[in-house]
Amino acid sequence: MIQHRTKHLTVFESALFRTTSTVLQTDDLILVVDPTWLPAEIDEIRHHVDAVRNGKSVYLLFTHSDYDHILGFGAFQDACTIASKAFLDNAQKEEQLQAIHKFDQEYYIRRPYRMVYPRVDLAVDEATDFITVGDTRLSFWQAPGHNADGLFTLVEPLGIWIVGDYLSNEEFPFIYHSVSDYAKTLDIAEKIITTRQPKLMIPGHGDVTSDTREMFLRLKESRKYLDALRDAAKGGEDQLEDRLWDRYDFRGVQLEFHRKNLELMRKELEGTMPVVISTEPAD
Ligand SMILES: [Zn+2]
Repeated sequence: MIQHRTKHLTVFESALFRTTSTVLQTDDLILVVDPTWLPAEIDEIRHHVDAVRNGKSVYLLFTHSDYDHILGFGAFQDACTIASKAFLDNAQKEEQLQAIHKFDQEYYIRRPYRMVYPRVDLAVDEATDFITVGDTRLSFWQAPGHNADGLFTLVEPLGIWIVGDYLSNEEFPFIYHSVSDYAKTLDIAEKIITTRQPKLMIPGHGDVTSDTREMFLRLKESRKYLDALRDAAKGGEDQLEDRLWDRYDFRGVQLEFHRKNLELMRKELEGTMPVVISTEPAD
């Protein structure tokens, strides 16, 4: 279904996990972000892109490499792909592909293309502040924490800020990578809201918002969660676990994420975080 539509923008919302897929058009390009989940949903996005394309180049942006955000790549192999350098160097490509395979097996899902980890044409590293295509400017910030290879992208002059799996109104922080990196990424988010004043924020799951107060509120909620998580990890008793469901509606699946967050927080506090060594061959 379509969650949000303006002249320049269509935000699709999957039936699963309220995951968003964005198609944005400027005079210079078409930008597609994280097309997902079900074959018919991805097909609808592809048809929309073909309908509005009008001869323009198509860019495909991945906010991060979690399997639900990359599984639509096969439908857009003709696009110029953009992701972080860390996404390209990801040592867990195979795990993400296996997660897609598991999901498709579980629900009898056939897809019209072979599943591969996305090719990256434009790898955004620390030194890449922005790229321009005509009058369209894409500004980037590395956003690790949720996972290791997140990327914030601000599309100007439209003022559309694509944040991936941060600042959702449906999810407290899900932290697979690092709590301390997550906190630093929230600081970057604050700076972007304050200094760049995005007109619209699009999270990977849940509702888009054009309300600056709402952006700050989500930021505050995320920080509050991290603080409470730290307290729970230090104190032993987790009072957070019950309180969370006053605010969030999907305890069924999210309880597990909270428990894993707590485990990760404890490891970080004890200083026993395993050092991740890339198994990718060096260039
Ligand atoms: Zn996600």
